[in-house]
Amino acid sequence: MGEENGQETIFQGLGVSSGIAEGEVVVHWQDEEEIPLRDIGLEDIPGEIERFEAALIATRQELLDIQQKIAGAIGAADAGIFDAHLLVVEDRTLIDEALRGLERDLHNIEFVFHQVAEKYCRTLAAIDDPYLQERVVDIEDVTRRVIRHLLGKSREEFHKLDRPHIIVAHNLTPSDTALINRDLVRGFVTEQGSRTSHSAIMARSLGIPAIVALPGICSALTTGDRVLLDGYSGKLVLGPSAQTRYEYGQIESRKVEVEHQLEAIRETRSETRDGKHIVLSANIELPSELDAVTRSGAEGVGLFRTEFLFLNRPQPPSEDEQYEAYRLVAEKCAPHGVIIRTLDIGGDKLMHLSDQPAEDNPFLGCRAIRLCLAQPELFKPQLRAILRAGAHGHVRLMYPMIGQTDEIRRANALLEECKGELAERQVPYCHDIEVGSMVELPAAMLIADQLAKEVKFLSVGTNDLVQYTMAVDRGNERIAHLYQPTHPAVLRLLAMAAKAAHDHGIWIGVCGEMASEIHLTPLLLGLGMDELSVVTAAVPRVKKAVQSLDAKGCGEMACQASGMTDPQAIEEFCRTYAKKHYPELFDC
Ligand code: PEP
Ligand code: MG
Repeated sequence: MGEENGQETIFQGLGVSSGIAEGEVVVHWQDEEEIPLRDIGLEDIPGEIERFEAALIATRQELLDIQQKIAGAIGAADAGIFDAHLLVVEDRTLIDEALRGLERDLHNIEFVFHQVAEKYCRTLAAIDDPYLQERVVDIEDVTRRVIRHLLGKSREEFHKLDRPHIIVAHNLTPSDTALINRDLVRGFVTEQGSRTSHSAIMARSLGIPAIVALPGICSALTTGDRVLLDGYSGKLVLGPSAQTRYEYGQIESRKVEVEHQLEAIRETRSETRDGKHIVLSANIELPSELDAVTRSGAEGVGLFRTEFLFLNRPQPPSEDEQYEAYRLVAEKCAPHGVIIRTLDIGGDKLMHLSDQPAEDNPFLGCRAIRLCLAQPELFKPQLRAILRAGAHGHVRLMYPMIGQTDEIRRANALLEECKGELAERQVPYCHDIEVGSMVELPAAMLIADQLAKEVKFLSVGTNDLVQYTMAVDRGNERIAHLYQPTHPAVLRLLAMAAKAAHDHGIWIGVCGEMASEIHLTPLLLGLGMDELSVVTAAVPRVKKAVQSLDAKGCGEMACQASGMTDPQAIEEFCRTYAKKHYPELFDC
């Protein structure tokens, strides 16, 4: 699959998080492990039992480690995280059944255990009880972990490795990515994924170079191979030559030089040459990213994806735990503010909760505000926590996936109920919190004038907007070429929503990945955006871009782009315009 070039082999994927990384790869085992079947003799039984016990102990330790890591990452120690998983490792019914199967069938323990666990899950899944169905998810997860230990292929390998490395995996879920050890993981490469899949977004937030959409890479590489990863161009070089390493060294030093120059504008205002202030804020997934936000020179947080507090755990965080997290963010953002987006679970961010049935089309399913309105018991503790955090800083609230005005009204009605409850409890909260709406469905963009009457601001989620406008799954690498943010339809929707917002006297921003792309800054400014909320690592570059532009000129440029028909030509037109105004940012 790779292209041989002397001693090197080059693989071309999609660079989704910029930067260069070099090092040893750790090939992460594939999604579904093949479980070997072997016949054993009676004399092998004690050895198999011993292996089984060791795998259960290792899995238990692994779960405890993850539990600790997640509690640390979200800034709150919650002993409940992964408790249900830990119970599975000690489940006598399951373990005894596996031991009986071992003696009866005389097959290797991983095969027997897998069969027993599968049967156990099928039986539980057939019972119409949400608690038991939740247990199925836990058992499946724990079974996979135990089997990986038996096969000597621990998935948590990369969490434990004590030397720097590059992860190569079939896919990384957002939950996997949340667990990455930033100090040791130099980069990652996956077979699946796209620019706007949440693992790619997280890689950018963490500042880890990454390449996705490289099918077959797990089999093409072996743990221990040395590679050079170019997150700019999406090239992965196996066995890089001295010449290649030298060339990339040059790119790295140019990059360091530009970053040094950008450091000088850190404290300056994000304002165009003709004086238009573009609010430049950062997107975060976890409170632990805040120090980087402060260092970047961003004006606070324009999108806090709170759902990351809900992943990797069997129970949602309590109101108090959420309050602590939101309060921490609000305090650290001062004197700027934070826009807290309410829970956007669904799509590729799945939560292991009892009453969430699997869906055929999760991106079109009971996601985000739809789920929250259907489950006030999940939504209201979050609303109360946000309101309480609002007493400690400048906090705004924003609803995701709004498709109709009524959803905002219903959510606001719950918000009012929450205020009443807090008042009754005599807990301090923000009485006049500003509420905004994400606009990420074409339907929402088309009725932006109606939505604008209900809220104080609009924030365009271009990641979803492009996927829903083009009917292109944002995570599917096979159709990634059809995912076109510069499609004329997207441009028209952006212009229409901006006009609607301004006609109604409210501001509009972009918090999708388009805002982080410096070649699209002139277009977004020209289409009338007042705010850009970008991945933290992109803040200095986008600020430099804004400062190099003229709002009036951008308006003319956007007008010209909007008259064009070909998405690729529009993108090239934007790139050429941007390069003319800040060529140094395209050098590396
Ligand atoms: C978006 O859709 O552009 C967005 C910002 O939200 P998310 O990427 O979390 O879906
Ligand atoms: Mg979205």
